[in-house]
Amino acid sequence: MIADQQSRNSGAALAELNPQQQEAVSAPLDPVLVLAGAGSGKTRVLIHRIAWLMLEKGASPYSVLAVTFTNKAAAEMRARIEHILGMPSTRLWVGTFHGIAHRLLRTHWQDVGLPQAFQIMDSDDQLRFIKRLLKNLGYEDSNWDPKEVRSYINHQKNEVRRPTGTLQSEDPARRQLNEFYRVYQETCDRAGVVDFAELLLRAYELWSDNPEILAHYQQRFKYLLVDEFQDTNTIQYRWMRLLAGQQGIPFVVGDDDQSIYRWRGARIEHIYRFEKDFPRTRIVRLEQNYRSTGTILAAANALIANNQSRMGKNLWTDGKSGAPIRVYSAYNERDEAEFVTSRIRDWEAQGGVRSEVAILYRSNAQSRVFEEYLINARIPYRVYGGLRFFERAEIKDALAYLRLALHRDDDTALDRIINVPTRGIGAKSVDRIREHAKAHSMSLWRAAAELSKNGFAARTANAVRAFLELIRSMGSAIEGLELHEQVDHVIYNSTLLAHYEKDVTEKGEARVENLHELVNAARGFDPGEMEEDLPPLVAFLAHASLESGEGQGAVWEDCVQMMTMHSAKGLEFPLVFMVGMEDGLFPHQRSLQDASGLEEERRLCYVGATRAMQQLYMTHAEQRRLHGTDSYSQPSRFIGEIPDELLEEIRPQIHVSRPVYRPGQGSAGKRAKAAGFGATQQAGYRLGQRVQHGKFGEGVILNFAGQGAQARVQVNFESVGMKELVLAYANLEVL
Ligand code: ATP
Ligand code: MG
Repeated sequence: MIADQQSRNSGAALAELNPQQQEAVSAPLDPVLVLAGAGSGKTRVLIHRIAWLMLEKGASPYSVLAVTFTNKAAAEMRARIEHILGMPSTRLWVGTFHGIAHRLLRTHWQDVGLPQAFQIMDSDDQLRFIKRLLKNLGYEDSNWDPKEVRSYINHQKNEVRRPTGTLQSEDPARRQLNEFYRVYQETCDRAGVVDFAELLLRAYELWSDNPEILAHYQQRFKYLLVDEFQDTNTIQYRWMRLLAGQQGIPFVVGDDDQSIYRWRGARIEHIYRFEKDFPRTRIVRLEQNYRSTGTILAAANALIANNQSRMGKNLWTDGKSGAPIRVYSAYNERDEAEFVTSRIRDWEAQGGVRSEVAILYRSNAQSRVFEEYLINARIPYRVYGGLRFFERAEIKDALAYLRLALHRDDDTALDRIINVPTRGIGAKSVDRIREHAKAHSMSLWRAAAELSKNGFAARTANAVRAFLELIRSMGSAIEGLELHEQVDHVIYNSTLLAHYEKDVTEKGEARVENLHELVNAARGFDPGEMEEDLPPLVAFLAHASLESGEGQGAVWEDCVQMMTMHSAKGLEFPLVFMVGMEDGLFPHQRSLQDASGLEEERRLCYVGATRAMQQLYMTHAEQRRLHGTDSYSQPSRFIGEIPDELLEEIRPQIHVSRPVYRPGQGSAGKRAKAAGFGATQQAGYRLGQRVQHGKFGEGVILNFAGQGAQARVQVNFESVGMKELVLAYANLEVL
């Protein structure tokens, strides 16, 4: 009966696919590489392959390992597989490389020499850790940039290099850096902390150093499936090769045109190598795009055709050609945000759903102005990425207490909170603790304990003892409590809550709310299949660290989605705004120096554009204030690479003398268009003009609306912000 039902499911599932997709899904049990453009159904095919393996080939869910790019994608994948199977897919491993590596290390902590309660350091923790260590070793006066040191170490790890293998360098500066890498690693090991890159490296070594463990997993995970294969880095690729061994059956899907993590060590070359490393590989190409309108697809195809290094492919759709791509030239970033907000309002007014709308930008800092406008317009939004919940200072403080309560040798945690809230352990005393720890190769915790017995003046000794006692008593008090009670206990007893409650500013209030929210997060925490056998607190802390690396996993409510183009990979939205389309911002200034950097930016632009299903807007600003400085830039060359006939320029509401982007003329064609008619010309005002108002003081004109006696002007005043005034009564004086 059940078999019958399943076979029907399988048939029905295949019927939802086109012939090429079916070919990939039901390919013989050999390695498969699906190489295809955006929106052609790669992810869909991967999901169906898993279902097909189970339904048609009788594969046990236990034998499947599927790798996705974010935790969110993993959750979606699981849901869709369950939908096809018509039953829960327990024992199926679906996760990110980091999540899977973490799970392996939790199981095999002894085999890789980690303490059972090892903690994960996110990249912000890692940076602090490096800064502290540089200081400790007397490097603070050298011109080492901690961020560069961090990239160096991560890069070595991504390339599967331990310090022992790198110390031999000819170059003395390089040798010194490697020496630092060695000390860094020793210190991490002693503290029982693991950075993100280390998760992968340890998991790799777990297998490469332990043939019997490897054999076990090779036998178990017969089917290895990888989405977004173009963005695997060296260690990930070697790790999957190790697992596949001679018998494994890898199924990978990817698109060379969407490789956007080269800066993090990803290698497109893995696509080329795959065929060589896995003999009998079947390559399947998908060419039909199901996501976007003909116009959006044509624009994306034209754009990416400008890249030299690509495998080349043909992507078509039989869908409608749809609306043109709308280009808006904003005067500045506020005007841009205003425009986007008003279009979102229109979308809602026409019955559109908010969560179908995405605002995509090149850098996280761009989100703030949009947030301001959306708040004013009372449009709920969600920023995906950026300073995420688990990266906020107060949350990290609370988590540090929990980590220390669980694992005393966690130096990063201790360092963070030994004097937060202040308890009379000054910077000098903390320095002494660090020195003592370093001199005796011990953890900060043990150093603090020793010094508190004899080594500190009475007052400091008392303060340190009180701190140690606080952590000890927390450790025992939270034993046996429910997870959310543990968190609740810690935020009260650490006095963090009381500490932030004293701060009556909005910021302080937000922090208090966030701490309460952490208790809620703990209450709603579901460790999921991958981590269900861990103690809840351990799973929760790991979750917090891993989440801070790659975005949140919470359900997307009905709100506008805001994220970088990088984090939009794999997603799709009916309405997409690509904002900040300016040379220098996108393509990013740094990338303009070399051709391959520019090509990576273009791929990113291709990723952004191909997220759109029905309507795509591109906006750019004449003048932009970002990171506190003003810049004037040309529209992105990427807009110029899209054929004119696909674009529609949106004119300002009133034609005034202002520079506008002329499609087809490239960035050089951006010239003032004087279409002088309407009230503003008569009134003698123009956009961007500085004006003085009797009551509000100085400001800049950002927008006009209405005609004649109804003509209104929008001015951003330095002291009071945005105001809309009736032009006839405003009495603005031009400055
Ligand atoms: P990306 O490169 O952006 O990751 P992708 O190749 O993984 O894209 P999917 O996300 O799998 O593409 O599919 C894109 C959209 O097209 C999805 O909404 C999917 O459901 C739909 N789709 C894919 N194949 C078909 C099909 N045969 N029939 C109908 N819809 C399809
Ligand atoms: Mg996909």
